[in-house]
Amino acid sequence: MKSVPVKVVADNGPASSKINLLGLDRKGLEGFFAELGEKPFRASQVLKWVHARRVTDFSAMTDLSKGLREKLEAVAEVRVPEAVLDQRSADGTRKWLLRLDGSNAVETVLIPEKSRDTLCISSQVGCALECSFCSTGVQGFNRNLSTAEIIGQLWYVNKVLAEEEPGRQVTNVVFMGMGEPLLNFKQVVPASELMKDDHAYGLSKRRVTLSTSGVVPYLYRLADVSDISLAVSLHAPNDELRNELVPINKRYPIEKLLEACRHYIADKPHRRITWEYVMLDGVNDTDEHARQLARLIRDIPSKVNLIPFNPFPEARYRRSSDARIQQFSNILSRAGLVSTTRKTRGDDIDGACGQLVGKVADRTKRRFKREQRLQHVME
Ligand code: SAH
Ligand code: SF4
Repeated sequence: MKSVPVKVVADNGPASSKINLLGLDRKGLEGFFAELGEKPFRASQVLKWVHARRVTDFSAMTDLSKGLREKLEAVAEVRVPEAVLDQRSADGTRKWLLRLDGSNAVETVLIPEKSRDTLCISSQVGCALECSFCSTGVQGFNRNLSTAEIIGQLWYVNKVLAEEEPGRQVTNVVFMGMGEPLLNFKQVVPASELMKDDHAYGLSKRRVTLSTSGVVPYLYRLADVSDISLAVSLHAPNDELRNELVPINKRYPIEKLLEACRHYIADKPHRRITWEYVMLDGVNDTDEHARQLARLIRDIPSKVNLIPFNPFPEARYRRSSDARIQQFSNILSRAGLVSTTRKTRGDDIDGACGQLVGKVADRTKRRFKREQRLQHVME
């Protein structure tokens, strides 16, 4: 079973001139209310209404004065996403295609498990980094998501869950959908702050994980402003192979990446890095690769997440066999490393890692050359 092709027929109309409060974190809301001559505690009130109670209509926000509600109606709005497609996989994984302003749409994937509901969210439409085993990379970069569009994925899925089963909410968020979150730093950080804010979603820092292919300067910046958990897409234990699989390695090679990772967890007790390692048959999955990997990260508190490769039509790789993955994992554990093998979920709806390809109506846009694109998104 493959996902039904979707044509995104309409957009959300012309962008509104009103400010969308969905995309402001506590700091942003406090600044907004200061401009309106209001006290900072208004931020907590509005966070609770918008994110915890999912109220979008100012007139229903009964602990705000009538005057303030009218003011808000004049200058602001709470604009939330709308789903154009809702799919369920045989294994329970669910995927929604959410419509964005303009003619883009973005995918968000829910992975229900016994003790948790993990939401895999997107941070960009497409991705500029062109990892050779990733369908998002093959598609190219279209644009960054706004904070409202990022947090809107969580807002929307929580609404669906609560309607289906009162009290049920997303318990974990991973930035493992489409896009490289660190190349959309300015929008991703406030979105992750909202996830952790007690008045909004109240998730602990251990339950919000940013996955990056290793944009080193932004890892240092993230360490300055955030304490969320970090997953790093390593995928190869040496520069020669990583250059091929994760081309941003040519700019930020493994040693520089490891330094930045050590720095990220340096003053965070009991924290570790999750290393993601996609298992590609005959490419990066030999015993020697496993030994090299173990040597590479032995001085860093670590967990390795082995990801069986998820194929897609243009892919030039095959998934390693289960026996090979098991043997790789045994070598890591003999070297004292904790490793888990990710169950492949949702692949019948193209919802597995690296299978997310937003349906982009405007495919005519000329692709920039890789370097130019990278510059473009890093500005
Ligand atoms: N850009 C970020 C986050 C999104 S990708 C990053 O690269 O980390 C989320 C994870 O899915 C990454 O570890 C990525 O390497 C992995 N992935 C991408 N394509 C895949 C594929 N075809 N099969 C399995 N995992 C894949
Ligand atoms: Fe982008 Fe991550 Fe895919 Fe690489 S693996 S192309 S960084 S989304």
